[in-house]
Amino acid sequence: MISLKDALDRVLANVPVTGTESIRLENCAGRVLAANVVSDVDMPPFNKSAVDGFACLKSDIGKELQVIETVPAGKIPENKVSPGICIKIMTGAMVPEGADFVAMVENSQPLNNGTIRLDAAPGGINICFTAEDVKNGDIVLEKGITVMPQHIAVMAAVGCTEPVVYKKPHITVLSTGDELVEPDCKPGLSQIRNSNASQLMAQVVQAGAEAVYGGIVSDDAEVTFQKISSAVNEFDIVILTGGVSMGDYDFVPDVMKRAGIEIIFHSIAIQPGKPTLFGRKGNKLVFGLPGNPVSSYIAFELIVRPAICRMIGKEYIPVQFNAPLSADFMRRNTSREAIVPVKFIEDGSVEPVSMHGSAHIHALTYANGLMIVPAGTALISKGEMVHVRSL
Ligand code: AMP
Ligand code: MG
Repeated sequence: MISLKDALDRVLANVPVTGTESIRLENCAGRVLAANVVSDVDMPPFNKSAVDGFACLKSDIGKELQVIETVPAGKIPENKVSPGICIKIMTGAMVPEGADFVAMVENSQPLNNGTIRLDAAPGGINICFTAEDVKNGDIVLEKGITVMPQHIAVMAAVGCTEPVVYKKPHITVLSTGDELVEPDCKPGLSQIRNSNASQLMAQVVQAGAEAVYGGIVSDDAEVTFQKISSAVNEFDIVILTGGVSMGDYDFVPDVMKRAGIEIIFHSIAIQPGKPTLFGRKGNKLVFGLPGNPVSSYIAFELIVRPAICRMIGKEYIPVQFNAPLSADFMRRNTSREAIVPVKFIEDGSVEPVSMHGSAHIHALTYANGLMIVPAGTALISKGEMVHVRSL
């Protein structure tokens, strides 16, 4: 049995990075940039008016001025500003040569003879200067960024229509267990619905990979061998649930070895999630997660999600903080690190979700964080600070 930290280090040390591909700008939200994005323009590309108003000389404020032209956005001014002469201008339009100020339209007074007076007002000069935001050739987005809508705006503005991103890993999810039926079947006596696969497929997609359901694998060594062998050839990562513990029908570890998969570890000192198994064949990875759905959920969050992130070029750093515990927490067996589903409550404290065990999936729906309790700790009193990460 190895520590969680050791397990994660071993997983990350074995993760290959996927290849890259160019995709359309509109489709890249959530993907990780595999190359810097460089601007092919200055931003702004010209001295631009920040307001609707009159381009003038600052020294002409308060004087009677002639308006000789109107410049809408998208037009090049035909005239220059000079003493006694101003030009009407719209937000986003090019500031004419000679102007060092744009007076807001709200601060202008039309005079009787068709002239205008611009009044002094607090504030700036209302001109955005060429390249003050970004210079042509600047790196505007760095490799490794996870693309959000605001990054897409920058890409659009610099003409990066086909950004280079990491490919999504192809992952298959297999569920072992003769007791399992698909969610659209009514389970018979002694049967349960396969809830792990749907949960894991959603976790895989949320982590930024492609999930393909591999079906229910019966508790038969030969069938399991065939399934694992073909899955590991076809996919970047194979995730199995069930069949990894010490029961008579827990074939997965032996079958993996027969299929040429090197077992890197099989057992982590965590509660729940102890029988978690990790193996590798070439650059293909195999995770054998516990059958109980709460355990498989947690093992995925702790071990598999960081691996997927590393594969697509980013480090997984969960939001982590310390918060006071809302009620005493006690446990008897302290040999392993405990991973306790918790909910954040309004006063800023965290409350362990009341659970009957690792099959109690309904309880997990109330959790929005995981509390990490070190091995050796049996009691944490109400009000003590605990380490939590958000889900
Ligand atoms: P196992 O690790 O195969 O011994 O399974 C441990 C427990 O998890 C058993 O109670 C199984 O019935 C349950 N279990 C296994 N696989 C699934 C699954 N895909 N969905 C829901 N429960 C499962
Ligand atoms: Mg089983």
